[in-house]
Amino acid sequence: QRTAWLNGEYLPLAEAKVPVLDRGFLFADGVYEVTAVLDGRLVDSAAHLARLERSAGAIGIPLPVDAAGIAAVERELIARDSITRGLIYLQLTRGGTDDRDFLPRAGMRPTLLMFTQARDFLANPAVEAGMSVISWPELRWTRRDIKSVALLGQVMAKQAAAAAGAQEAWLVEDGFVTEGASSNAMIVDEAGTLVTRSLSNALLHGCTRAAVLALAAQYGVPVAERAFTIAEALAAREAMITSASSFVLPVTRIDGQVIADGRPGPITRRLRELYIAAARA
Ligand code: PLP
Repeated sequence: QRTAWLNGEYLPLAEAKVPVLDRGFLFADGVYEVTAVLDGRLVDSAAHLARLERSAGAIGIPLPVDAAGIAAVERELIARDSITRGLIYLQLTRGGTDDRDFLPRAGMRPTLLMFTQARDFLANPAVEAGMSVISWPELRWTRRDIKSVALLGQVMAKQAAAAAGAQEAWLVEDGFVTEGASSNAMIVDEAGTLVTRSLSNALLHGCTRAAVLALAAQYGVPVAERAFTIAEALAAREAMITSASSFVLPVTRIDGQVIADGRPGPITRRLRELYIAAARA
């Protein structure tokens, strides 16, 4: 039986309930975080908590529990649910009132929810087989730097990917890839440079992206933060995604076309190993 932490209380996940007038339900007025758990420990927790504070601050939702308090709850959930490998999902909404109104009231009490998901990332078949992605139009709003729970654009992209037999969609705006539906997108270009789009409101500032770029620089892989096209990705030596729930995974096909020899590349493998080693250190 899984445990939820909801507004200060631990309870069985199946029994955790939020009122229908919660603005998270009515307006998607909220933000979220997903943090990996490896060997029973949080991965890159400080970065995820800092981004939560940034996302919540950007839409003016006060955190009802400070970062240290949230991390303590996350560790307690890991212990209660005996999670060795998996995720912590956290959602913060502006809370509920007695009626539906676009304008939030002053002094609302936010809703804060956390629960675990067991998942064995290390056994992901995509590590050896590589992933297929599709290109898909960027249909989302323009503040993608805020980790909003309004995820309809991502859901549509994932459905399109699944219908095409692919696992992820790379979203394309003005000819350039912004990011994946639930990941950041990277390629290794013909010169051996790791290329990923620079940070802006156009994409989520991925915690895994930042960690992987730092590891690449540390281990002598040249890095360029710039936008790239699907055509460049198809001509690249390697392609990959990064996210808390996948770490680093090779992309070997885009829109059914094979990248390089169709096998996961050496820089992708190395960055994945380095990321996992750093998470375990
Ligand atoms: N971009 C989007 C749209 C995402 O949803 C995610 C994660 O779920 C990422 C990027 C990767 O971010 P992180 O590495 O912080 O998990």
